[in-house]
Amino acid sequence: MKFTPRTRKVKILATVGPASRDPEMLETLFRAGADAFRVNMSHGEHRVHAETIAAIRAVERSFGRPIAILADLQGPKLRVGSFAGGQALIRHGARFTLDRDPAPGDETRVELPHPELFELMAKGQRLLINDGKIRLVVVRADSQAIECKAEVGGVISDRKGVNVPDAEVPIPALTEKDRRDLGFALDHGADWIGLSFVQRPEDLAEARRLMAGPRGQRAALCAKIEKPSAVRRLPEIIDLADGIMVARGDLGVELEPQEVPPLQKTIVGLTRAAGKPVIVATQMLESMIESPAPTRAEVSDVANAVYDGADAVMLSAETAAGEWPQEAVTIMDRIASQVEADESYMERVRFRGATADRTTADALAHSCTTIADTVTIKAISVFTLSGSTARRVARERPSVPMLVLTPSATTARRLALLWGAHAVSTRDIGSFEEMIAKGKRMALRHGIAKGGDRLIVLAGVPFGTPGSTNLLHVVTLAGDELEKHSEKSAR
Ligand code: PGA
Ligand code: MN
Repeated sequence: MKFTPRTRKVKILATVGPASRDPEMLETLFRAGADAFRVNMSHGEHRVHAETIAAIRAVERSFGRPIAILADLQGPKLRVGSFAGGQALIRHGARFTLDRDPAPGDETRVELPHPELFELMAKGQRLLINDGKIRLVVVRADSQAIECKAEVGGVISDRKGVNVPDAEVPIPALTEKDRRDLGFALDHGADWIGLSFVQRPEDLAEARRLMAGPRGQRAALCAKIEKPSAVRRLPEIIDLADGIMVARGDLGVELEPQEVPPLQKTIVGLTRAAGKPVIVATQMLESMIESPAPTRAEVSDVANAVYDGADAVMLSAETAAGEWPQEAVTIMDRIASQVEADESYMERVRFRGATADRTTADALAHSCTTIADTVTIKAISVFTLSGSTARRVARERPSVPMLVLTPSATTARRLALLWGAHAVSTRDIGSFEEMIAKGKRMALRHGIAKGGDRLIVLAGVPFGTPGSTNLLHVVTLAGDELEKHSEKSAR
């Protein structure tokens, strides 16, 4: 299907749900600017998710562009039990007890079906219910009951979420449900796995262990930062993850909301410096769930995440359950494009941090940006199997797009979340000369450059040896590059 290549460098990750999962809407969202889709395993059945994934792959085939699918595991989200009549009102200042009795709850008590929490909670600690709308403070706790005072009351209903920001909960990173969902996601070819409520580096190690083996190796691991305990061990977590999500929804409940903006900058900065993609998520265009136009504050929020240098910005309920999914993606695309057109943007996002162990490959990646700043260059062409060369170049935040040639369909898809990457699946390339020819042809075919334009080609010799990046070539495209090739293949 005819499709104008995107020039936007920041990527858009759209969550799929009832409002967007039919094939026409997925195609519409892709056309509007979605580069990647999130399948939220917290909701819905496997049968429906399988249909969604198949429909996304169909869009991918019809446009000939790789699309990343991120299967987001629910993680150890704590929930209360249920109530007689589905809900109850907790009054401000009233006592409310969480206990181990599965009998339906009322305005004085409800079951908390997580035994490991009872020994853990102590006087003065907070329990936040329903995205922090209800705030309970522990008065007394033992192995059977956690007695609280409602600092802020409200209506509590069946299975509402509970956050315990003051405790590190000794439960595994992946619940039984997560393990089943992970197996499903890997079987259905998810490119990214989102790990929710990561508390410690060991949680990532556990996920990796479960992902080991042929079917799991292809998926990359995205750690969602939404717990204070994860914030405390950020460098180790970034080190073990392939990508990071600033999960501001739960993070803003577990922490004070005003703590989130500075943390967003810290997390984006540290992840970028590690050369890994970072996604800023949640409530970005929240009012568009019901309204076709965003608020000024939301527009600023998206723009500022882009100015922070994020690789991707995410839509949640806006595209999953909202009334205006297409408009939400369109608005996000416009905001990101406008920021990228601002002269100060490149200046702001350029990588300045010097990591201790910089390599020749880093030096060459850095040189690409300098060259592109000095003379007119249309793209940087790199060849990569694992994506590492692409991530290295993207880290520098060059002013021109990166044309990533890769023989791995998995790598091409994963890179749909990487800043500035325009991935193209190719057959394996055997030599530097072949790569130059291929880079030129693909730049023309994908509308990234035309005859007379210049291209940087970054590679390593001996060709195809990982970590061998040691060659930077500036080439000029002949006007008839594409014709020459098609004539040859037509013959
Ligand atoms: P969620 O994660 O939408 O799966 O809760 C994102 C967040 O908490 O911000
Ligand atoms: Mn969350």
